[in-house]
Amino acid sequence: MEGKLYIVPTPIGNLEDITLRALRILKEVDLILAEDTRNTSNLLRHYGIEKPLHSHHQFNEHRTVENLIERLQAGSVVALVSDAGTPGISDPGYLLIRACIRAGIPAECLPGPTAFVPALVNSGIPSDHFVFEGFLPHKKGRQTRLKELATEERTLVFYESPFRLVKTLTQFAEFFGSGRYACVSRELTKIYEENARGTLEELILHFSNKTVKGEIVIVVEGAGK
Ligand code: SAM
Repeated sequence: MEGKLYIVPTPIGNLEDITLRALRILKEVDLILAEDTRNTSNLLRHYGIEKPLHSHHQFNEHRTVENLIERLQAGSVVALVSDAGTPGISDPGYLLIRACIRAGIPAECLPGPTAFVPALVNSGIPSDHFVFEGFLPHKKGRQTRLKELATEERTLVFYESPFRLVKTLTQFAEFFGSGRYACVSRELTKIYEENARGTLEELILHFSNKTVKGEIVIVVEGAGK
């Protein structure tokens, strides 16, 4: 029998956001690779799925890829999940997927939840052309990246932590201009979902002097709009 890797997106908050096919695949595979096995066991328990779980995260993926390829070559069918959303999108996945492709092992990504798509679409900012930047570098290379992005005409999409939100919006205002329109999507699909829209200046005011909590996507309109 031929082995196969399935890349399976999981909810980014609302547990109803999982496809019927994702649930079937998770039930059928021999093994599930999870970023955080405790987190994924809770998720699987919710759907009544019991499967062997192995840990696969950014700190061990370089070491485990070779073993996993051997298992897949021996015929195992494996699902890769991350803590939330689609593996490989600001999450581990790429190394294993590339290794499968190089070894001739089929790798198939199921369509499903990922945070940047609802954030982009909710923003009301043009979504026909966009650049997904994920997390900006914290220190080295950050200013250079911001300088490069200042002239980017396509809509920009960033992941950010709540602790750095105001600092990042302030830097965006500095590099892109404080009148640039943006949208901050917080806690998408969860009870306290918020989509705050306005100029960077307005958004800085909105989020300053309060404790910002939850998970965040920032969408910024492109240059010259
Ligand atoms: N693989 C995930 C995906 O497909 O979107 C992203 C994983 S990345 C480690 C986590 C980041 O995704 C968070 O810091 C936040 O920027 C974004 N994110 C995840 N869930 C979110 C949510 N419910 N609302 C807003 N942003 C979210």
